[in-house]
Amino acid sequence: MRILRRQKLATQTSAIAAVTLLFLSLIFGWLQSSKEVNLAITIKQREIQALATTLASTVLDFMLDQNLAAIENILLNSSRFPDMHALLITDHVGNILSEVRKDTETHTFSPTFRNSALSPPADSSVKFYPDHNPIDYWQKISYAGEDYGWVVIIIDKAFIKTVRDDTLLAALLYGAAMMIAGFLIIHITLNLRLRSLQHCTDFAENLVSGQHNQLSENQGSSELDGLANSLNIAAAKLNQQKQKIDEKTALLESKNKQLFNRIKELNCIYKLSNILSLNDITLQQRLEQIVALIVQTWQHPDLTSVRITFSDHTVLSDNFTESEYQVRSSIQSDGIDIGKLEVFYGKSTEEPSSSPFLKEEHYLVDEICHRLALYFKREQLTQQLVTQNDQLEQRVHERTLELIDAKVRAENANQAKSDFLSRMSHELRTPLNAILGFSQLVLLNHKHSEDGELTEQIEHINNSGNHLLTLVNEVLDLARIENNKLLLQLEPVNLAEIVDRTLPMVLESASQRGITITADESIRKIPNIIADRQRLQQVVINLLSNAIKYNIDDGEIFLSSSISKDNNSITVTIRDTGIGLSNEELERIFEPFERINHDYTVDGMGIGLTITRSLVQLMQGNIGVVSTPGKGSKFWIELKIVEKKYQSMVG
Ligand code: ADP
Repeated sequence: MRILRRQKLATQTSAIAAVTLLFLSLIFGWLQSSKEVNLAITIKQREIQALATTLASTVLDFMLDQNLAAIENILLNSSRFPDMHALLITDHVGNILSEVRKDTETHTFSPTFRNSALSPPADSSVKFYPDHNPIDYWQKISYAGEDYGWVVIIIDKAFIKTVRDDTLLAALLYGAAMMIAGFLIIHITLNLRLRSLQHCTDFAENLVSGQHNQLSENQGSSELDGLANSLNIAAAKLNQQKQKIDEKTALLESKNKQLFNRIKELNCIYKLSNILSLNDITLQQRLEQIVALIVQTWQHPDLTSVRITFSDHTVLSDNFTESEYQVRSSIQSDGIDIGKLEVFYGKSTEEPSSSPFLKEEHYLVDEICHRLALYFKREQLTQQLVTQNDQLEQRVHERTLELIDAKVRAENANQAKSDFLSRMSHELRTPLNAILGFSQLVLLNHKHSEDGELTEQIEHINNSGNHLLTLVNEVLDLARIENNKLLLQLEPVNLAEIVDRTLPMVLESASQRGITITADESIRKIPNIIADRQRLQQVVINLLSNAIKYNIDDGEIFLSSSISKDNNSITVTIRDTGIGLSNEELERIFEPFERINHDYTVDGMGIGLTITRSLVQLMQGNIGVVSTPGKGSKFWIELKIVEKKYQSMVG
């Protein structure tokens, strides 16, 4: 097979070389033929020149004698000149005097006088005419400086083709000879060289396939001998490398085995984790799965027996057999043994050592025990957590019930309180109104009495009664607000009118302590607002009373108002120069019955601001306060402005 391939290669190479040689020969022949043709033409021209010169001198005498027959004879004799086509004698202007021409069929020459004229070259030095046909030759016939005519020689141009064909044929033959010779030489040489190369190739292939023999260095040429030497060195090195590779392969195989065992170990731990985290299976089922897993994982499953003793359970593998070949570990939680794991190999094990178990298998037993201990601990904690959770839930439930009960009781108590306040107020108002009525009646009867002391006492009863009535009314209002029973009548109200009515009511108590009240003119310029007239008056009185009550002697109160930017609401501000309130106190003042750190020298129940805020909110407004302890407070209420079209409707 290889020999065939080698011969095929040699044949192909030789053929390519031979064809190349042939091709080169043809190119050479072609170039050579051009040269040959030129040479043949030059020789032919020289011969023609000699013939023409001879003819010119020969025919001159006969021309002078006008002996055309002799001229014709001479021309016929000269026509034997090789490749001659025609011979002509003309007079000096080109009129043909005598002519012999070859018959193309018989190839014989005969006179063919046609009584016609040719055009001789203008320049007599031009012998060949016309230029493109160097074979037509014109030789002037002259004597003693006078021109008598022309000798015209026309050569058959076929001779040029003959010369070219001959040359090409020779080149072709030469090329063919070269081709055959080249083919044979190259083929034989290549065959010989390739045979040596083949030895080297075979050797190299053997090297690759692992046969590291030595190669004879006598391969027939110095290069191939060198190659053989190099290949021998390579073979020696390859031998060394192969030994190293064999060693490394052995090492890798052992590592691979270790790795395999390690993977098995890891796989076992992974599966163990899965089993331990499975939900909805009993401890018995869990332990059975672990036993089956250990059997599968061990090096000789068919010889492996497993026993797990754990938390009142003992689980054995199928066909359990105890033997002296065993590995065991205990399961410990908080330093206390809670179980153990034992793995046995059947007696028929062929392992020679006293401990046939792999290192990894020893680790595994410990690791499984460790994980079972963790599982036990986790289960314990989970159980505790569940118990605690249950207890917590129970407590939350109980507490919720208590709270619901407390809430119901508080609501009931609140309702009872509101009812009581409401009833009380009503009950108090009736006798109070009677007291006030009678005291006023008595006052009226004693109007002109001389007894000033009695009049003063009755007035005192009347004032106290009025004060009491205010307090009772406030409590009644609070009860109504808490029961959502306070109904307001919202209508367009003029603030200036409210202020005008309210100020006189508080002026006296203010002037008693030297407090001045200044109402800003802005109050008169604001549009009507939406409010309950009576209740708004109550709000303003409340805020003014507080501003007086919690002011310093000779203090000041400023009343002003402003319109919001969007023209939708007004803000009424009552500012005093009184004791002021801290931030912490401010948070409490609107709560019912909250009085800030007073030693009860100032009258009040602590519900004025609670009622005020509820009233403002029922009038769809807002209330707020800013204060600085020792400097004074600023209370403000914001109420909606009546729409423009209803502005004139003030009740
Ligand atoms: P009362 O005036 O009857 O105590 P209020 O509800 O009107 O109840 O006020 C609650 C508390 O707010 C008052 O006890 C007082 O401490 C504080 N307070 C109200 N207005 C002012 C004010 N203008 N300056 C300082 N403290 C005030």
